[in-house]
Amino acid sequence: MKTVYVDNNATTRTAPEVVEAMMPYFTELYGNPSSMHFFGGQVAEELRQARAKIAELIGADPDEIVYTSCGTESDNTAIWATLRSYPQKKHIIATRVEHPAINSMSNYLRENGYRVTDISVDREGRLDVGRIKEAISEDTAIISVMWANNETGVIFPVEEIAELAASRGVVFHTDAVQAVGKIPIDLKKTEIDLLSLSGHKLHAPKGIGVLYVKKGTKFKPYIIGGHQEKGRRGGTENVPYIIGLGKAAEMALGSLEDKNTRIRALRDKLEQSLIDSIPNTMINGDVQNRLPNTSSVSFEFVEGEAILIHLSNLGICASSGSACTSGSLEPSHVLRAMGVPFTAAHGSIRFSLSSYSTEEEVDYILEHVPNIIQKLRSISPFWKDGKPIESSLLTGTTSIGAGSR
Ligand code: PLP
Repeated sequence: MKTVYVDNNATTRTAPEVVEAMMPYFTELYGNPSSMHFFGGQVAEELRQARAKIAELIGADPDEIVYTSCGTESDNTAIWATLRSYPQKKHIIATRVEHPAINSMSNYLRENGYRVTDISVDREGRLDVGRIKEAISEDTAIISVMWANNETGVIFPVEEIAELAASRGVVFHTDAVQAVGKIPIDLKKTEIDLLSLSGHKLHAPKGIGVLYVKKGTKFKPYIIGGHQEKGRRGGTENVPYIIGLGKAAEMALGSLEDKNTRIRALRDKLEQSLIDSIPNTMINGDVQNRLPNTSSVSFEFVEGEAILIHLSNLGICASSGSACTSGSLEPSHVLRAMGVPFTAAHGSIRFSLSSYSTEEEVDYILEHVPNIIQKLRSISPFWKDGKPIESSLLTGTTSIGAGSR
């Protein structure tokens, strides 16, 4: 069975060029970059070069790059390091659509004496900066807003929010795990203090991340240990993975524009054909302002998990917007925050493409999805005789026009 992988916001294939670049650091160049001898020294030099490549991808200075183990560690560190630096401040601002790496952290803080304001989004998944402005108070330590949402791909105005935060003396962090390598980022032009990225979302391996720390930002480390990363993160560096991330950053920068034009065209073809061929299908999120690779599609009146199983049986790997928690199917917190009706939120699928995606793969998906939806609707309690049952019978729903985007 062939594999059609369209779950690149979950993780990406490690590029063969990246694997090749990493290999010598497992076998021959295994020195510790902190060692005094030449053997460690040559590794330290390679790490320096990788740091410069990663910095270039996001328009940072190499000294502003701190290696971590993943996006989650970068996010957690951003919050902890700031709260430790401003112990008198007990308020943080985030959004309702952050990844659990921020959201679960916020919940933990809420239970431990902090005040957290979660800003909501509108029906298109957009954020009103005015609401963040209103929420800032004397004891706000940090504002954390993701650069792009992992489920819908909606891009947030983080540069504008960073300026607002700077004008009020508040630290600004952005979780850019889904944005880096997909859209141009130039931090030199922004007031962003802290930024998280994760290697495995841009064709480097799982288990390597970065926290960008703008020069001059107060920062008390989260992982306390040796002098590595200029005392900002203890622990011997994960040399092969850092080399891999450097290579992935170089590749992402070199091909960003061409790659995105191609991926966007494939994504748009996928969406348009799904809408044209399947009634009661809608695209979630602001279609004008999204990552080029991401599509959150709702097929009303069917279960996302059932769609995924059918897709998986055909070799198609996508993901669902709902999470099965303690036996009950909960629609995703992102779609709930957007106010997507439950009959649509439950039937949501995220397709996320990469530079390895092909037109042939999109055609394969398009060949099968209409049949799957038809089959599932034929056994749906909300669907009868080729159309939804009267919306007045569906509590908690609003009717959505077929083909709405
Ligand atoms: N933030 C966002 C927006 C993500 O999409 C993810 C991963 O899916 C993370 C953080 C966590 O990254 P990692 O898996 O490297 O911990």
